[in-house]
Amino acid sequence: MSKAPVRSSTDGDPMTDFAATKAMFALPEGMIYLDGNSLGPMPRATAERVRHTIEDEWGEMLITGWNKAGWMQKPTAIGDRIARLIGAEPGHVVMGDTLSIKVYQAVASALELNPTRKVVLSDSGNFPSDLYMVEGLTKSLGPDYTLRVVDPEEVSAHITDDVAVLMLTEVDYRTGRKHDMKALTEQAHAAGVVTVWDLAHSAGALPVDLAGCKADFAVGCTYKYLNSGPGGPAFIYVAPRHADAARPALSGWLGHAAPFDFDLNYKPGNGIERMRVGTPPVLQLAALEASMDIWDMADMADVRAKSIELCDLFITEVEARCPDLILASPRDGAGRGSQVSFRFHEGYAAMQALIARGVVGDFRAPDIMRFGFTPLYIDEGDVRAAVDIIEDVMTNALWDRPEYKTRNAVT
Ligand SMILES: *Cc1c(COP(=O)(O)O)cnc(C)c1O
Repeated sequence: MSKAPVRSSTDGDPMTDFAATKAMFALPEGMIYLDGNSLGPMPRATAERVRHTIEDEWGEMLITGWNKAGWMQKPTAIGDRIARLIGAEPGHVVMGDTLSIKVYQAVASALELNPTRKVVLSDSGNFPSDLYMVEGLTKSLGPDYTLRVVDPEEVSAHITDDVAVLMLTEVDYRTGRKHDMKALTEQAHAAGVVTVWDLAHSAGALPVDLAGCKADFAVGCTYKYLNSGPGGPAFIYVAPRHADAARPALSGWLGHAAPFDFDLNYKPGNGIERMRVGTPPVLQLAALEASMDIWDMADMADVRAKSIELCDLFITEVEARCPDLILASPRDGAGRGSQVSFRFHEGYAAMQALIARGVVGDFRAPDIMRFGFTPLYIDEGDVRAAVDIIEDVMTNALWDRPEYKTRNAVT
C-alpha cells in the first residue's frame, strides 16, 4: 500500500530516509549499479505486485478485472503520482505507450496549436529517437514543415518568430547538461512558440516544476529513474490551458470521450484522457506501482541535494585518481542532471572492464563513459567503492584486453 507522500523538507533537514529506500531495492550482491539513468533496478516489492496482478487479478477475474481491479483507471491514477515528481497539476498526466510515441503525439498536438508556423526547433544534444519522430511527423505533414536542429548552446538564439514548437530534452542523455526550462519556456512564449519538454532524464532525477515554468507539453519514460522495468510505459502532460484544445493526432479508441459507445466518429475525451491511445499495459503498470510506493517516500529536493553531493564526490575522486578520464559533464551541479560522464578513447573497453568488476555504468558513442547517481539506492560508500575499482582499471590498463573490445548490440 502507498505511504503518505512526503511533500517537502524543512530547510536543509532531509525528510527522505535514503537507507530505508535503498533497502526496498533488490540489488545483486557485489554490484554497484550506476546505470539507473538507463534502466532502473527492481524494487523488492515488484515481483509480488506483478504476481498479484497476474494470478489474483488476471487469473481470477479475467475480463472483469477491467472494472473490479480498476485496470482502466490506472493510467491516470499513476499519472497523478508521477505529477507530484514533475510539478504537474493533478489530473494532467496520463501513462501509456513508449516515449517515442509520446514525443510524436505531443509535437503533433503542439504544431496544431500554432497553425501559422511550420518549424520545430530542437538541439543536437537531443536523443536521436526524438529527432527521428519529428522528422517522420514533418514528412507526413508535408514539404512546408521542417525540423531545425541547432547546438544546445545556441537554442536561445534560435527561438525566432517562425518557430512553431520548441522540443527539448531537459537533461542531455550523454553529458548530463541541463537546459534552463523556465528561462527557455518564457523566451519561447514571448516569441509565440509552444514548448514540448522531454523529461526522460529529469523525472525522478531532479525537481521539475512544469506548472511553475508554464510548460505546454511534457513527456517522459518510467524505466529509467522511475524503475518500472524494461519496456515500462511513458507519460504525457498537457498544460490545463491546452487540455481541452489539443487535438490528439493518435486518436485511439481509449482517448475517445466514450470508448464503449463504439461510435464510428472520433470525439476526444476530457482533458488528458484524450492522450490515451489503446489498451493500457496493465502488467507494466503494476510493476510501476511497486516503484511509485518507494517514490511516495521521497522528497525531490532531498533527492536533488543528495544527487549533487554524490556526483560532486565522484568527480573529485575520479579526477584526482584517474587523469586519463576527461570530464564531459558540467562541473557545476546546478547545470547538470543526475549523471556524470567522462571521455576516454577506449571508453567502451574500459566500461566492459568495470562491468566485469561489478561497477555497472554504460557507454555512449563515440567515447563517453556514463555513470548515473540515484540517491534512492546509491550512497557515498558505493561511490567510494566504485572509484577504487575505476582507479584500478585505469591505472593498470585492465581494459586493454580483446574480450572487452568486442561490441554488444546494447552498449
Ligand atoms: C530513453 C529515451 C528515449 C527512449 O524512447 P523509447 O520510446 O522509450 O524507447 C527517448 N527520448 C529520450 C530523450 C530518452 O532519453
